[in-house]
Amino acid sequence: MFYANENYALLPESYLFTEVARRLKEYRVSHSDREVIRMDIGDVSLPLPEVVVKAICSAAREMGSAGGFHGYGPEQGYLFLREAIARGDYHQRGLDHIGADDIFISDGAKSDLGNLTDIFGEGVRIAVAEPGYPVYVDANVLDGRAGAGSGGRWENLVYLNCRPEKGFIPEVPDSEEPGEVADIIYLCYPNNPTGASMRREQLAGWVDYALRNKSLIIFDSAYEAYVRHPEAVRSVYEVPGAERVAIEIRSFSKTAGFTGVRCGYTVVPRTLSFTFRDGESASLNRMWGRRQSTKFNGVGYIVQRGAEALYTPEGQQDIRRATDYYMRNAAMLREALLKKGWRVVGGEDSPYIWTIPDIGGRYVEGRSLTSWQLFERLLDEAQISSTPGSGFGSGSEGWIRFTGFNTRENTLAAIKRLADLSEI
Ligand code: PLP
Repeated sequence: MFYANENYALLPESYLFTEVARRLKEYRVSHSDREVIRMDIGDVSLPLPEVVVKAICSAAREMGSAGGFHGYGPEQGYLFLREAIARGDYHQRGLDHIGADDIFISDGAKSDLGNLTDIFGEGVRIAVAEPGYPVYVDANVLDGRAGAGSGGRWENLVYLNCRPEKGFIPEVPDSEEPGEVADIIYLCYPNNPTGASMRREQLAGWVDYALRNKSLIIFDSAYEAYVRHPEAVRSVYEVPGAERVAIEIRSFSKTAGFTGVRCGYTVVPRTLSFTFRDGESASLNRMWGRRQSTKFNGVGYIVQRGAEALYTPEGQQDIRRATDYYMRNAAMLREALLKKGWRVVGGEDSPYIWTIPDIGGRYVEGRSLTSWQLFERLLDEAQISSTPGSGFGSGSEGWIRFTGFNTRENTLAAIKRLADLSEI
């Protein structure tokens, strides 16, 4: 008799995004004459850069020629792309210790974040920052590592609270007693949803913690191309020693409009070595390679040629132009909200704005609007959709997320509506 994986029964529907979509649909049905501006979306709005389109077309033509056909490729990704990444994203930024053999091409960051649990040992303690990108938690729930859930939290997970007064940066735990140490630590900077970025010395605290406790950091830097501040971290490997404790997850989705093309990469340095419970040592690079060659057949040649084009001077300019465009949207939104007296985080090294109407810049039960109440007010009174912050973790009540990913025209229209909005 077939029994389904019971962990799937544990995981509730994605309440946040389903509920936003449901409420928007309902609103549109009852207010068909009003146009809603989607400031909740995490998808990009600019088209693919021309240099990518040309490379994709040329690779497709190559595939259609007898001599240029490519069948199954290397599971780790073509060397031409891995070398371009190593050079462009690491060597040219002074990170010579990351090489093409450390890089695994993926079909995007979400897949690898979901699949990485395959290489975690049994009983490891997993720490997630809250608020956070929901995939870190959900992937571990599906893998049976989170235990029972209640009130939006899971009994076996360690929650790293990111508080406004700390700039939404989690603090390194005080206790390093056996049984209390976080064995796997998910960090995401620049952060989704808060838009906060991390300074090098803040990350160094986490790298030191991981080195002392033999923990593994999974550093999601899907938004690294948005970093503008010189002290803000783009890569975990900017901190010495991180190559012995950290995996880095990257994506071309938000950097170059690849949300629909699908390509990213994961860095698992060859210097990353851990032990099995019996004490035998293991290279995570080799393990991840084994995992990928068993369960994954690589990213399409055409797509990898498209990604390679991003490392040409023209491609780099296109990335800068696109990220500047979204950052300008975010900066204008930030300014407009600050002018209204709202508390605002993000929008400086990130396309996301994390905001709360001011009552001392924090949520006060009974006096402030909840995130969902704020969502409703903005929808009702200004026809702007937002993402309720409480959906990213229980400590984020009252906050909402706006995105800089919409078009300039829509962003300007949203800003005007926000300016006209009565006091909240
Ligand atoms: N990581 C973070 C923090 C994200 O916000 C997203 C997408 O929104 C992803 C990963 C997934 O990106 P990809 O499109 O590469 O799967």
